[in-house]
Amino acid sequence: MPKKPSSTAASQEERAFAKLGLVRDIDLALHLPLRYEDETRITRLADAREGELVQIEATVVEQSIQYQPRKQLIVKVDDGTQTCTLRFFNFYPSQSKSLAVGKRVRARGELRGHVSAWAGSSLTMLHPVCRAASGALPQSLTPVYSTVAGLSQPVLRHAVADGLARARRDGLLDETLPPEFTRLIGSMPLYSLTTALGFLHHPSPDAALATLEDRSHPAWQRLKAEELLAQQLSQQVARRERAGLQAPVLLPRPGGLYEQLAAVLPFALTGAQQRVVGEIVQDLALPRPMHRLLQGDVGSGKTVVAALAAAACIDAGWQCALMVPTEILAEQHFRKLVGWLEPLGVQVAWLTGGAKNKAKREALARVASGEAMLVVGTHAVIQDSVVFRNLALAIIDEQHRFGVAQRLALRGKMAGPAAPAEAGALPEPGLPAYEPHLLMMSATPIPRTLAMSYYADLDVSTIDELPPGRSPIVTRVIANSRRDELIARIGDQVDAGRQVYWVCPLIEESEALDLATATDTHAELSAALPGVQVGLLHSRMPAAEKKAVMEHFSSGRMAVLVSTTVIEVGVDVPNASLMVVEHAERFGLSQLHQLRGRVGRGAAASACVLMYALPEGGRLSESARARLRAMAETQDGFEIARRDLDIRGPGEFLGARQSGAAMLRFADLETDGELLEWARELAPRLLAGQPAQAERHIERWMGGKAEFLKA
Ligand code: ADP
Ligand code: MG
Repeated sequence: MPKKPSSTAASQEERAFAKLGLVRDIDLALHLPLRYEDETRITRLADAREGELVQIEATVVEQSIQYQPRKQLIVKVDDGTQTCTLRFFNFYPSQSKSLAVGKRVRARGELRGHVSAWAGSSLTMLHPVCRAASGALPQSLTPVYSTVAGLSQPVLRHAVADGLARARRDGLLDETLPPEFTRLIGSMPLYSLTTALGFLHHPSPDAALATLEDRSHPAWQRLKAEELLAQQLSQQVARRERAGLQAPVLLPRPGGLYEQLAAVLPFALTGAQQRVVGEIVQDLALPRPMHRLLQGDVGSGKTVVAALAAAACIDAGWQCALMVPTEILAEQHFRKLVGWLEPLGVQVAWLTGGAKNKAKREALARVASGEAMLVVGTHAVIQDSVVFRNLALAIIDEQHRFGVAQRLALRGKMAGPAAPAEAGALPEPGLPAYEPHLLMMSATPIPRTLAMSYYADLDVSTIDELPPGRSPIVTRVIANSRRDELIARIGDQVDAGRQVYWVCPLIEESEALDLATATDTHAELSAALPGVQVGLLHSRMPAAEKKAVMEHFSSGRMAVLVSTTVIEVGVDVPNASLMVVEHAERFGLSQLHQLRGRVGRGAAASACVLMYALPEGGRLSESARARLRAMAETQDGFEIARRDLDIRGPGEFLGARQSGAAMLRFADLETDGELLEWARELAPRLLAGQPAQAERHIERWMGGKAEFLKA
């Protein structure tokens, strides 16, 4: 008979392994246990206490199936010191067979005291793990691995043990560290990797479990040191590889677009803006791809820096793309850039998911022909249908909103050979493949440890100065009970010619969360402020409607804009001077900071009111209070980011998408700063002195994932 069922089972298992990322032997070897079970000991029932997790070895003396109150298998066992009742609510016939009277079994579970009419006073185990009592007891703790449906612990355990053995046999675990580095800071000698892995998969029963749990055990130290080293190595390799790649040299011409734009700007650049523009322009003039992060607090004026970079690129005859996370922002940037660049003879194309078909086709054609030298858009910019004639500079605004894959896709838009537009005809085959320059912009500064580990491969430019004439934003945290008072104040502000944002967390009534909805609030404010134009903006509105509302607000015709968080990033209406955030306790810290950054962009004194509502129980959570306190206490984006990192930890701070597969599995930047320093110091030495070892080390840890680091 064909073995259909078992082959399905096998492929199900294969899929499960793939899902866990356990493909190569080394993956299996590095799949470390979540926790351990101690099956090395047998406890005598007479010595055991209620509530203890124990393994007993006993003989089945009675078995029955009970139907009341629920069907259950009841097995009474006796280990010679006492009896114990094992109960199973779900069981297979095979189970009752293996627990037949007379069988000798090992059962592991939690002991409970139990009194019943049937069994008298005795101990009970509910659903213990049972096996036949044959063979010697294991010598080491039994590992429990994270797994997925379709892959049982015993199968996984075997696979890991086999993978580990093969990895060891094939030399995959051989030492990659030079001898002078196998001693860690503080003189502790490092475990070798093979010893560390052997131990972590099968620790001896006397291992201090606490040091395994908090990962301070020397075996863990080795793993973390290895991982951090791999990360440092691959970042440095990526940097080197990039240095070896070709990118178009983008030199602004004397009297060209770049200089013209600089001359017509409605304001003088701040010193910080001048400095970062200088850094970027210098990079663009080199024949290797720029990989630069421009960070500057909300409102520090990053857009104009992007515009100047774009101008330098276009000046040299190459196309530039600017990708932003929301349609509203795309629209706003588009208008601003058109305003600056079209009078200078540059065509700008606009691409978003929401754009109409015909308009979109036309825009695509203009991008492909090179007629449109600048393309502004959302994710639509990286769709397959978008073909550039000669993309040389990719700018990503609010880059933290994009994933690694999206950044890669944008760079991939310039996969083939290309030539500047001035060269006339289409690119000639045989020209070297160029990489575009990449400029990422973010208002969320990256704290130092993160920069050291995740962005070692990134150059950073920082705008550390706000444009002149800004008055500080006054931040107030108030209870929802003062809503009426607040609405009255909005009336006064509007009378004085100011504009107001009112941000609500959700658009639809969700009874469970009891959120004020944007629509309700819109109705409420409209009623409370007769004669005032109150607008509504949320993500479910058609693009054209959003655009119309934003135009009304930015032109000053609309005084109050009730909105969901669609305005969170980038929106720039300098006349707006009051920001109200409803249910502020539900927002993240960086989100609040971004929202507050929508005001204080002009000369008018601005204010931000964070309104909170107490939950049922009457108290805000500790972290909600920490967030609101931070907002009230500081306006400095760097300080906010530092506190945000404190509150959330690096994993959440970066977001899984942000860091992609490069996320650390074992090391923790908070606690392993010393190891990180060690890895940073070692990486360049290893690369220079023993490049083959370094390569083996990267391969061991990164495998196919190294690609992600290039984004
Ligand atoms: P962000 O860094 O948050 O993206 P924007 O680029 O939106 O900041 O700039 C915020 C506001 O400051 C805009 O209205 C912009 O026109 C203005 N601005 C930028 N640079 C200057 C400057 N050097 N002097 C005066 N205003 C400036
Ligand atoms: Mg911006």
